[in-house]
Amino acid sequence: MSEQKNISKKKKIIIAVVAAVVAIALLVTILVLCLPNDSKNPTPDNPTHTEHIWDEWETFKQATCTEQGELRRKCTQCDAYETMPEKELGHILDPKTEQIKEPATCIDAGVIQGKCSRCGQTAERPIAALGHSMEWSIDENTHVKKCTRCKQQEGTPEQHIFNGENQCTECGYTKQTSKHYVLSEDGKTLTFGSYPQSEVTDNALISNLNAEIQNKLPSSDDLNSWTDYGYYIQGKVQSYMWYIDVEYKSDKYRGVYFTEYRPENAGYGTGNSNSKQDENGYTTEKVYWFKFEPITWRILTQENGKAFVAADIILDSREFDALGSNNYAASGIRKWLNDAFLKTALANLEDYVVVTNVDNSADSTGVTDNKNICENTDDKVFLLSYAEVLNEDLGFDFDTRKHQSTDYAKIQGVNKSSSGYGYWLLRSPSSDTTFDVRAVHTSGMVSDERRMSETSSGIVPALYMVL
Ligand SMILES: [Zn+2]
Ligand SMILES: [Zn+2]
Ligand SMILES: [Zn+2]
Ligand SMILES: [Zn+2]
Repeated sequence: MSEQKNISKKKKIIIAVVAAVVAIALLVTILVLCLPNDSKNPTPDNPTHTEHIWDEWETFKQATCTEQGELRRKCTQCDAYETMPEKELGHILDPKTEQIKEPATCIDAGVIQGKCSRCGQTAERPIAALGHSMEWSIDENTHVKKCTRCKQQEGTPEQHIFNGENQCTECGYTKQTSKHYVLSEDGKTLTFGSYPQSEVTDNALISNLNAEIQNKLPSSDDLNSWTDYGYYIQGKVQSYMWYIDVEYKSDKYRGVYFTEYRPENAGYGTGNSNSKQDENGYTTEKVYWFKFEPITWRILTQENGKAFVAADIILDSREFDALGSNNYAASGIRKWLNDAFLKTALANLEDYVVVTNVDNSADSTGVTDNKNICENTDDKVFLLSYAEVLNEDLGFDFDTRKHQSTDYAKIQGVNKSSSGYGYWLLRSPSSDTTFDVRAVHTSGMVSDERRMSETSSGIVPALYMVL
């Protein structure tokens, strides 16, 4: 019995030890499982690996547009594993559904809204702010940088800094030097100065112009603010034709009135049979109005900042000289061109007209032994010479010599053909007589048959001007 008791006592001890060992093993296993996942310590009961040997990362939980996913890797030797979050994917806006919710401005980002092509949710994405688009804002005197979009200004406007070419070294603006003439698009003509040209035919305007002068008419006794033309009848200056200039609504007009017909030759008597005025449609004792319009000049030559120009149309009608001779230097026409015409047509523009040494040589008249020539004259305005109107380099031929007349030249009694082309005077004297001058015929032909005293001669002024 006692031996049996001893045996059973030993058994009890062994069981207790085994139980204790199992309990400890269990505890250790629990401990290992409870260790932090990133533990690199080998488990004490697996001494064969002193460090975890990690397998590849694998997706444990798939990330979505809006929620993080999770990656895991396991130890190949034990049950330990590590986790790593995977960033949420973010929505992918389907371009077909995109709409601007808030537009971007220069300074603020905008918002685009649309549907996510992955999850179908409504989602937004920002549009970057546009940033200012700065450009020069320029006026005559100053420049300043301004945003073309939001108009925000950078600093305050500053004066241009002009270089020798009148260009601003900062903004590139070129100073607009106000031109005294206007060049045509084809560059063949320019307008410079003004002269009464087209007749006013609008009845309302005519009565307004008449009202401007309070319907006052001139007479040989009382000018009544009109100006006497000082025209001839029977070789004597007589008082029968007048003009008056009126500014009306920023335009200028010339009223013309006559009580006797102007004879087509300064030596003739009056009467409609002696005058071209009647033929041209104008009668006595009626006020006619003509508008001051820009004079169109043909550019004959152009060099060194100067242009040689001649009127493109017959502007007036006058005799070369009423009583003297065909000597240009002494002629009435030369005096009139450089006095009345210059002051009327080029008021305030005289400084742009160059004084020219006008060639009055025999060669200029087309007759080398012409005895009727005069010395060269220094003039601002002059008539063209025979040599000039035959010079193709100046653009003259049969066609380009033909000139129409203005309405104003017609009331002055210009001699014109049925096609409207008028005779016009040259400064060159005839070589045959001392009372004929060379002129351009209505056909464009150049002749020397024009009597110096014919008042029906068209006037085509020419001059050199500063460009
Ligand atoms: Zn491990
Ligand atoms: Zn989504
Ligand atoms: Zn801006
Ligand atoms: Zn500038």
